[in-house]
Amino acid sequence: MTSRRTRDRLIQRLVEQGVSNQDVLDVIGNTPRHLFLDEALAHRAYEDTALPIGHGQTLSQPYIVARMTEILLGAAGNLERVLEVGTGSGYQTTVLAQLVSEVLSIERIKPLQDKARERIRMLGLRNVRFKHADGSLGWPDIGQFQGILSAAAPRSIPQSLLDQLAPDGVLVIPVGADTQYLTLVVREGDSDKFRTEKLEPVKFVPLLSGITR
Ligand code: SAH
Repeated sequence: MTSRRTRDRLIQRLVEQGVSNQDVLDVIGNTPRHLFLDEALAHRAYEDTALPIGHGQTLSQPYIVARMTEILLGAAGNLERVLEVGTGSGYQTTVLAQLVSEVLSIERIKPLQDKARERIRMLGLRNVRFKHADGSLGWPDIGQFQGILSAAAPRSIPQSLLDQLAPDGVLVIPVGADTQYLTLVVREGDSDKFRTEKLEPVKFVPLLSGITR
């Protein structure tokens, strides 16, 4: 189930779907996705599908994790600090943490965050900070981020996330309700102008306000 061959098949599939960043492919190939699922579902971990993680939420499909990460890395210059909205299982967090200096991850459902924190600690990653909060407000006391990635879809992009983009910073976020598009937003230099590009259609859980204990 977790054999090299199974993981290589997943990577092959991602390549066929157009993922081309070798660092991203290597990290996904080396990240044990089965550890982010309950035991009953672990045997499906290397299928390229989203899977339930409880509380009505899902572990993102590997393709979408790869795509979002690749877009973020490709569009951003220097990625020191990345803000992630929607920790979920912590799988995307783990992929990101192997590619950038520091990940700050916000989740609104406390039990999901606790599990994710434990997994990431077990994997020995020390460059992740967690916050239990409504991520649509960003993480204002940290300052600005070169990269922001959201794993939950708002109907329109929250102003706080735009405000917290550093000069030339990049936001990758699904936007919409019934029909959603993966969207790339780049702050133009240190101006208050943003370039927005609608990429591909996607299906994400909604970005909700407030928190759950
Ligand atoms: N990439 C994650 C996918 C998580 S699904 C993974 O690989 O597991 C999206 C997550 O966003 C859910 O856990 C949901 O609870 C969370 N979420 C939704 N709205 C949020 C908000 N306003 N702030 C923080 N997290 C939010």
